[in-house]
Amino acid sequence: MSKTLGAPNQNVITFLFDTKKMFINGEWVPSVSGKIYESLNPATGEVIAKIYEGDKEDVDLAVRAARAAYIGTWSATSPADRSKLLHKLADLLESHSEDFAYLETLDGGNSINLTRHGFVPGAVAHLRYYAGWATKLTGQTIPLTSGGNFHAYTQREPLGVCGQITPWNYPLLGTVWKLAAPLAAGNTVILKPSQQTSLTTLLLGELIQEAGFPNGVVNIVTGSGRSIGEAITSHPGIDKIGFTGSTEVGKGIMKKSADTLKKITLELGGKSPNIIFADADLDKAIQGAFMGMFTNQGQICVAGTRLYVEKQVFKQVTDRLVEMAQKMKVGNPLDPTTQMGPLISKEHLQTVKKYIEIARQEGATVLTGGNILQDDNLAGGNYLEPTILTDLEEYCTAVKEEIFGPVLCVMPFEHIEEVIERANLTEYGLAAGVWTQSLTTAHKVINALEAGTVWVNTYLKSDNGLPFGGFKQSGIGAEMGYQGIEAYTKTKSVLINLN
Ligand code: NAD
Repeated sequence: MSKTLGAPNQNVITFLFDTKKMFINGEWVPSVSGKIYESLNPATGEVIAKIYEGDKEDVDLAVRAARAAYIGTWSATSPADRSKLLHKLADLLESHSEDFAYLETLDGGNSINLTRHGFVPGAVAHLRYYAGWATKLTGQTIPLTSGGNFHAYTQREPLGVCGQITPWNYPLLGTVWKLAAPLAAGNTVILKPSQQTSLTTLLLGELIQEAGFPNGVVNIVTGSGRSIGEAITSHPGIDKIGFTGSTEVGKGIMKKSADTLKKITLELGGKSPNIIFADADLDKAIQGAFMGMFTNQGQICVAGTRLYVEKQVFKQVTDRLVEMAQKMKVGNPLDPTTQMGPLISKEHLQTVKKYIEIARQEGATVLTGGNILQDDNLAGGNYLEPTILTDLEEYCTAVKEEIFGPVLCVMPFEHIEEVIERANLTEYGLAAGVWTQSLTTAHKVINALEAGTVWVNTYLKSDNGLPFGGFKQSGIGAEMGYQGIEAYTKTKSVLINLN
């Protein structure tokens, strides 16, 4: 581990010492093939861990364990006991918060402020929220319309084994979002974290073991999407896929799941519009637009990447955004004063850089940024300047495609109908923002925007109780709230003849 990266965390150093094994049936096991891959620190390019690389055979073992645990133990564990175990896991995670924040920052390059004050406490709160739901899933008594002396009711039952596949951008939170609701509802789970950021999920596995979840209730398999991801998607022993990731991979998962008619929840990509009207509180709107774009290096599915600004305040808003971008501290994510860390990988850095070059070729002006940062203290890391583009048309690649990096497209508009039409000119429909002091304007835009979440005079705020999901090609189904747990249950109708 590099000596340049802040104060070392001894627990994490100890954790990273051995080659990380997979967690199957309550045990830590190497992959059947014995293959290993390396996890890199995006801030330095250094290897921080070696991890066993799973394959079809490992998925098969995990499915067997999860199915046996579902039939033999977990579906028969009372909701109150499931709730207790989830609370215990939340308590353990809270007591190890600093280790998780440090490891997440080391592995994913997310700034320590974000992991410490956002992602880790967010994961704890999410576990507690769904721990509460375990005892509150109910059915209904149904008055029959067809007559007869019957007692008719419904009950909610778990689906069985869930294959949960997550991306790299906030790995711990992403994993916990895929874990708490299915477990609370009585399902067993196979977690497949991104190959680029598997470490906090594996560390969570240690706490799952310590909390006392029965063997096989939670399994963790590590490796590439092509091998274990596809093995999960096509495995006949898996009943549901919960996937968060790109729209392209999501479409493939939907096709593959069709063969065994799995239930699916897909949380996919986005290209969210954020609209500032001239009557908005501009200080708040500019802060919100900046934070909604550059948080986590722009590697957030709901990032407000298409900023539409009403013409009369366009210059004022862009000038301020440029000034803020130029003052932003980019650097070592373990330094609490850092505002923006590195991108996840060298490949991703090059992809994002290429989008900026294409934008230039298509006529865009780069108002600020656009360069890879390579000073001495950033050497080896995947750092890019926060970038703001303008002079863009709706057909430009940077406006249409998800870049998933710190690249903001700012465009002027003249009237409300025009901006609504342009905001909806996308295949995505994840989220949107509106900044105005007029309730009439806000309501008109809320109702017209094709997006699963619309923020008014705020951005990025989420809540465990509020469903989150995408419209159009941004997804199917929702996480959070009642919808988030309902998606891990099925309804059984019962008719009892009382004669
Ligand atoms: P990705 O689609 O490349 O990978 C996501 C996960 O799927 C990884 O674990 C990967 O190994 C696995 N995978 C890859 N190919 C697979 C296959 N053929 N079969 C099964 N699994 C496969 O996405 P990423 O680059 O890790 O993450 C960035 C994407 O995630 C962005 O598009 C972003 O918008 C999206 N995302 C969406 C949300 C949301 O809630 N809507 C949240 C976070 C990220």
